[in-house]
Amino acid sequence: GVSILWFRRDLRLDDHPALVAAVADGAPVVPLYVLDDALWPAASANRRSHLARSLAALDDATGGRLVVRRGDPREVVPALAREVGASEVHVSAGHEPAGRRRDRDVAARLAELDVRLVATGSPYAVSPGRVRTGGGTPYQVFTPFRRAWLDHGWRAPAPRPEVTWADVRSDGLPAVPATSADLPEAGEAAALARWREFLDDGLAGYGEARDRADLDGTSMLSVHLKWGEIHARTLLADLAAAQADGAPADDVATFRSELAWREFHADVLHHHPEASSESLRAVVPDDAWADGPDADAAFEAWARGRTGYPFVDAGMRQLLATGWMHNRVRMVVASFLVKDLHLPWQRGAAHFMAHLVDGDVPQNQLNWQWVAGTGRDAAPYFRVFNPVAQGLRFDPDGDYVRRWVPELRALRGKAVHEPWKHRADDAPDDLFAAADRSVEDDDPGPRRDADGSPASG
Ligand code: FAD
Repeated sequence: GVSILWFRRDLRLDDHPALVAAVADGAPVVPLYVLDDALWPAASANRRSHLARSLAALDDATGGRLVVRRGDPREVVPALAREVGASEVHVSAGHEPAGRRRDRDVAARLAELDVRLVATGSPYAVSPGRVRTGGGTPYQVFTPFRRAWLDHGWRAPAPRPEVTWADVRSDGLPAVPATSADLPEAGEAAALARWREFLDDGLAGYGEARDRADLDGTSMLSVHLKWGEIHARTLLADLAAAQADGAPADDVATFRSELAWREFHADVLHHHPEASSESLRAVVPDDAWADGPDADAAFEAWARGRTGYPFVDAGMRQLLATGWMHNRVRMVVASFLVKDLHLPWQRGAAHFMAHLVDGDVPQNQLNWQWVAGTGRDAAPYFRVFNPVAQGLRFDPDGDYVRRWVPELRALRGKAVHEPWKHRADDAPDDLFAAADRSVEDDDPGPRRDADGSPASG
């Protein structure tokens, strides 16, 4: 017989336990991707572009055998199983609320045909729900979760098996939609190349550089992790090898800790599927939020990068231009929306999902809740990131702002963070002096936290 490997968030062939399971008996494998009509047209152009290009790369990697079928997976997967006479459909487990419901339905329909849906592995090093306290309950707080996650450990990367891909009719690859954003390359080879480059040039010093918006100090792997073009297990194994080879232990630990945040958020969402839309903790009443025309205008100004706060505007414009935003700036713009504009986090999260190429329900929604102070292990709700102080600290020479806010390019150095204090024809030396004095002067009081530096970073 043949088996089907139904790809979802695992668009790679390396370190793919479900692929290993699918070829276990040496039978040919049908590589399937289902373009779900309920999801595909609704996804943002940036995410559809990435997915379309990633599917093209996967098609190449399978010798042109990728079978794309359109429709509801509840219909399409059982129909294909019957068409090719498969007795098993293999997947990497899905963990998001909608995906879990879909998989239950698909499994039930397959069972009627005597076909098994077999889930092996997940998009995480440790499947959500596995890391538990001694009492068997989920962790509420990140740091003990991370400790237990490290103790739990993970499997070694799965070796890539020899595969015979079956030859089955495909509806054809989706067209790559036009988008105005300058997006990163897609596919497993691009993900691996990016990771190798980061191991060579970015890992040493990552702990320091990662917070600097003006440096390319991060891995840019989020989009590849989101689509499973590379797996966290691969990264963790390579990190251990790099450390054995002399990479600084602190930088390795910091990078590993960021991956632990990703797994923590997936774990929280696993236990609280409602957290994708509802605050986990109510810190302010729902009717406390601004609404009406002024709130809409404020939201528009934020979304378009026209608040007048340079660091915020730079971040929002980076998002529109590239489908990505630096993590430090994501925290600052999110804080600005919730705590300065008094708009609900869900509104900002929806805008992020509409533009981020790495837009991912657990990471996006739980990070928004973290900033809003409504999440598990959230920042105190009264902590506000001061957008000026954050800019001065994490874009110390102002280069990030000048890159994304061209109308401020005439201001030199860090003066660009406080354009209201300067005229473009001011002497540069004065600009520096003025900017140095400005942080305390501007601080409106104890609600502001000039640092705001969170553990999650
Ligand atoms: P690196 O610094 O190189 O980190 C390596 C990897 O660690 C990342 O690729 C990511 O998988 C993980 N990671 C790093 N920081 C975090 C974090 N705070 N939470 C969870 N995982 C993390 N990340 C997404 O992948 N998708 C999202 O939709 C998303 N939305 C966010 C929304 C807000 C409001 C905030 C504050 C953060 C959000 N993040 C999201 C987390 C983080 O900003 C990005 O993962 C990171 O900027 C990606 O860049 P990188 O791969 O170069 O990061």
